[in-house]
Amino acid sequence: MAFSDKLEAWYNDNGRTLPWRGIDDPYRIWLSEIILQQTRIEQGRDYYLRFVEAFPTVADLAAASEEQVLRLWQGLGYYSRARNLHAAARYIMDECGGRFPSTYEGILKLKGVGRYTAAAIASFAYRLPHPVIDGNVYRFISRLRGISTPIATDAAYSEFERLLLTLIDRRRPDRFNAALMDFGSLQCRPAPDCAACPFADECVALLTDRVALLPVKAPKAKPVDRWFYYFDLRWNSAGGGQTLMQRRAGKDIWRGLWQFPLMEADHELAPDELASSARQFAEENFQLPTFGYQLSAPFRHQLTHRTIHALFLRAELPSPPTVMPADVSAVDLGQIKNIPLPRLIDRYLQNL
Ligand code: SF4
Repeated sequence: MAFSDKLEAWYNDNGRTLPWRGIDDPYRIWLSEIILQQTRIEQGRDYYLRFVEAFPTVADLAAASEEQVLRLWQGLGYYSRARNLHAAARYIMDECGGRFPSTYEGILKLKGVGRYTAAAIASFAYRLPHPVIDGNVYRFISRLRGISTPIATDAAYSEFERLLLTLIDRRRPDRFNAALMDFGSLQCRPAPDCAACPFADECVALLTDRVALLPVKAPKAKPVDRWFYYFDLRWNSAGGGQTLMQRRAGKDIWRGLWQFPLMEADHELAPDELASSARQFAEENFQLPTFGYQLSAPFRHQLTHRTIHALFLRAELPSPPTVMPADVSAVDLGQIKNIPLPRLIDRYLQNL
């Protein structure tokens, strides 16, 4: 039996039902793919439904403010995805006459869309024969063919793409890709049940006892440690309370989100060093002559290239500071959940 027929037969019995499957609206498929880039399907499904409800068309998404989009994205992390989504929607409205690009190359021009996402949209929405290659597909195909090229590099993508182009079902590339992704995710799992696999008789990894050794992963660069000290400066707690928040500028992943005023360090500050640095920070930024605070438990936040160790310095002030940097604003504590926040700040607030 041909590879695609075997895969199709497995998919008929085991394929997942998902709200973005079996549709051909490129906008909705794109939304689902961007949401799922670094998110589990169960969590992504809720966000997808919320986005589709708030912004049913690409024109609705383009007309929204970045703040609205970031707020709806809150909790998903990797906010650059939301900013790119929004920028690409505006690009489609302004540069493409409001029509979603219908070629692989045109889709690749959208901000935040790489080869994998372009292949997914091109195949699901337009039935173009571009194979999708995500982590699950790498695992399945590495094992099936006994390929030991380190995965998730440009070179590996091209090698797997060439191979899959010889296997893809050109009549139904959409179903082929969905089946490929589901097979890698549900059947050829990290610890698979090979006895129940329809490819057991031809799987090179199984036949050569290398299932646990494949795929080969490229070594990752060690993340850099950073220490963040946030200032949660509150007043009027009896009357509901207010605190100070700062909109994050610059070009990093949290651009446009709100945070407590932040003092950064490239090493962990010892208690005495923290006390004197905090006093200096409070005086320079808010002209607070004295500064006593309560220190939170430490929070750790893992990003792709950085490990952030965060502590929150919480202080109860007798009145609002009269001086503050231009990008800092007073926010009602009751309203704080309505502004887009990095997940780290969210976790701290939930812990209080
Ligand atoms: S036999 Fe096992 S390792 Fe090989 S493709 Fe099937 S599930 Fe994956």
